[in-house]
Amino acid sequence: MQNADQHGYDRTGTQREAELRARVRETNERSRKGRDGAGAGATTSHSPVGCAECTELEAARRSAAAGDDHAKAEDATIAVRSHFRNAHLLPKENPW
Ligand SMILES: [Zn+2]
Repeated sequence: MQNADQHGYDRTGTQREAELRARVRETNERSRKGRDGAGAGATTSHSPVGCAECTELEAARRSAAAGDDHAKAEDATIAVRSHFRNAHLLPKENPW
């Protein structure tokens, strides 16, 4: 019975495909959630999500700003800005 065989094969293939897709979707969702979580933890309006350096510099700037050392806070702000400009703005703003 060729028809029956074919039908059985198709069903197995579709099932396996659906399973694979579900797993891929699950993995994607998990990595997206992880990225969102990191971004929400740093809560910066201008930091591109996924840039570890931005997150790190912004965290340093915040802790410096929370303290009394204004020079340190200023340095940290400059570090954030210069990294941001060099890493994220220059390629777009500079037509070369
Ligand atoms: Zn960055």
